[in-house]
Amino acid sequence: MLVLGIETTCDETSAAIVARNEDGEGEILSNVVLSQIAEHAAYGGVVPEIAARAHVEVLDHIIEQALEEANVRFDRLDGIAAAAGPGLIGGVIVGLTTAKALALSLGKPLVAVNHLEAHALTPRLTDQVTFPYLLLLASGGHTQLLAVRGLGDYVRLGTTIDDAIGEAFDKTAKMLGLGYPGGPAVEAQAMSGDAARFAFPRPLQGRPDPNFSLSGLKTAVRLEAERLAPLAAKDIRDLCASFQAAVVDMVVDRTRVGLRRFRETAGQSPSALVIAGGVAANLAIRRGLQRLGAETGLRIVMPPAALCTDNGAMIAWAGAERLSAGITDGLDVSPRARWPLDPNAPGAGKQGL
Ligand code: ATP
Ligand code: MG
Ligand code: FE
Repeated sequence: MLVLGIETTCDETSAAIVARNEDGEGEILSNVVLSQIAEHAAYGGVVPEIAARAHVEVLDHIIEQALEEANVRFDRLDGIAAAAGPGLIGGVIVGLTTAKALALSLGKPLVAVNHLEAHALTPRLTDQVTFPYLLLLASGGHTQLLAVRGLGDYVRLGTTIDDAIGEAFDKTAKMLGLGYPGGPAVEAQAMSGDAARFAFPRPLQGRPDPNFSLSGLKTAVRLEAERLAPLAAKDIRDLCASFQAAVVDMVVDRTRVGLRRFRETAGQSPSALVIAGGVAANLAIRRGLQRLGAETGLRIVMPPAALCTDNGAMIAWAGAERLSAGITDGLDVSPRARWPLDPNAPGAGKQGL
C-alpha cells in the first residue's frame, strides 16, 4: 500500500510517500523536508504564528514534490495521513485540513496520526521490530520511556519531571550563544571539548522510578558559564562536552531502570530498546545506549538521524500501519495541541508528559 504523510506540527513542513507490503516491510519512496530554521533563528526559537503561515505557503508545493520524487500520482495512493497533534495548533490545522481536503476530493481514507506515535513507530519502518518493545522518546517537547505493546497501546513507564532533553539542549545552546536549534550545535561543540572539565550533576541517578530531570543540570551549566564570563571558545566547548556527558549518563542510567520496570510490569523482556525523537540523533547518546545494549544483551534499534527528527515519512508510515489494521478517521476529526500516548499516566497531556 502507498500512503502520503504530512507533517506540520512544529517547524518542519514535510510530505512523504511510503510503501508498506503485506509482510509489514516499509520503503520510503520520497521524504521532502523543509525546515523553517531561517525564519525562526532571529527569535531564538519557534514562533507559532510564523510557523503556521510558513506551512500554508509551502505545503502544496512540498506535497507535489513528494509525489514527483516518488513517481506516484494521487490516484495510486491508498490513504492520506497527517499529523493531527500534538503540536503547535496553527501548524497542525494546516496539515490536517490539507489532508482532509485531499481525502475528500480523491475519495481516499484519512488517517489522523499522533505525531508521537509516528516517532514511536519509526523503528518498525527502518528495522524489523516486533511488539512489545521499550521506547525512549526524546524530543524537543517530550522525554519518556514507554512500553509499546501494540499499535495505539502504550504504557508510560517514566517521564521528565521538568524539561525535555531537547529543550535542555536548546536552552543550553541559547545560553552559550550557539543559536537555534541547539541540539546539533551543542553536539558539534562537545565533539572537541573536555567532558571531564566540569563535574555537572547526574540528576535522579539510581532512583527506582525511570524518570528524568534536566532543570538542575541546566542551572549548573548556567552558573558555571556566569562564573567564567566572558567565555572563551574553549570554555564553550568544554561546557557543552561536560553538559552532554551528564545527559548521556542520565539517559543510560534512567533507561537501565526503565528496562527493569518493563520486565517487572510486562513479565517479559522487550524485543528491543528503540530510540526515537530528535534527540535520538545525538551520537554520544547513541553510543551510550549501545553500551547499555552490550551490557544487558538487549537489541538496540536506532533509526537514521534524519528519521529521528520531524519528517513526513514517519507520519506516512504510522498512517500505513493504522490503515493496514483497518483504522481510519472521519473528516470531522479534530486537531489536538495535546495528545498523550498513554492517557492513563498521571498528568498525561501536560507539556512534556
Ligand atoms: P515533539 O516531537 O516532542 O513534539 P519536536 O517535534 O519539536 O517535539 P523533534 O523535531 O522530534 O522535536 O526534535 C527536535 C529536538 O531535538 C530539538 O530540541 C533539538 O535540539 C533536538 N536535537 C536534534 N538534533 C540533536 C542532536 N544531535 N543532539 C541533541 N539534541 C538534538
Ligand atoms: Mg522540529
Ligand atoms: Fe517531533
